[in-house]
Amino acid sequence: MLTFRNTNLGVGLLLLALLLWDGWHHVPWWFYALLVFVYSLIMFYGVYFIQSGFFMKTLYEGPPDAGRVIALTFDDGPSAEHTPRLLDLLKEHDLKAAFFCIGKNIAGNETLLQRIVQEGHVVGNHSFTHDTWFDLFPVRRIAAELRETDRRIESVTGKRPALFRPPYGVINPNVRDAVRQTGHRVIGWNVRSYDTMTGDNQKLMARLLRLLKPGAVVLLHDHGKKTLDVLPGFIRAARERGYAFVRLDHLLNVEAYV
Ligand SMILES: [Zn+2]
Repeated sequence: MLTFRNTNLGVGLLLLALLLWDGWHHVPWWFYALLVFVYSLIMFYGVYFIQSGFFMKTLYEGPPDAGRVIALTFDDGPSAEHTPRLLDLLKEHDLKAAFFCIGKNIAGNETLLQRIVQEGHVVGNHSFTHDTWFDLFPVRRIAAELRETDRRIESVTGKRPALFRPPYGVINPNVRDAVRQTGHRVIGWNVRSYDTMTGDNQKLMARLLRLLKPGAVVLLHDHGKKTLDVLPGFIRAARERGYAFVRLDHLLNVEAYV
């Protein structure tokens, strides 16, 4: 399996072989350049593809025998502007989802966070700041963000999240080490909607339906109007195709809280 450790071992051995060969027979410089290039590509894959499990084990899909069940997840809330409408919509469609909340968004939205839990949804940790440079923070700072978000969620809802979704889905050795300290399970996805980036509703709907598959964990956001506009149609279309919506922790068979 392609992991951080295996890659370092393999590339280290290749480098050693090249150096030995170089001592005996001249090795062209581009051999080394190629090795660096391939190593960088593999690192990129490991950092940006949460399904890769490159740095650590992540949960991102239901079991192979899950059948036609899928889970919806909403990141970056709670949002006073959009989350209430989303909750109305989920209630209307009798659907339970998972909300990966940003710690700093909780202040002022405490009632909203309580409503999420009261209506049967699950709350997970999505860092405190969701800072652009989050992945470059030292281990101690990343771990402190996770703990602070847990603390705020627990003080409002009485529940301490066991699930963490990294901002931007990025995992690197620092994020991995921080998560090892805090003990969270890392949650990814296997259907990325790009709901915050896709230009129009039709494209978003077409993408969601194209990627629909048994055991899917769908990544959406509750800070955009487009998601809310497309969701009712998507729920209807998925159900027509025989899919049922289940809550993330049930699909993955994990405990949502400590
Ligand atoms: Zn996010």
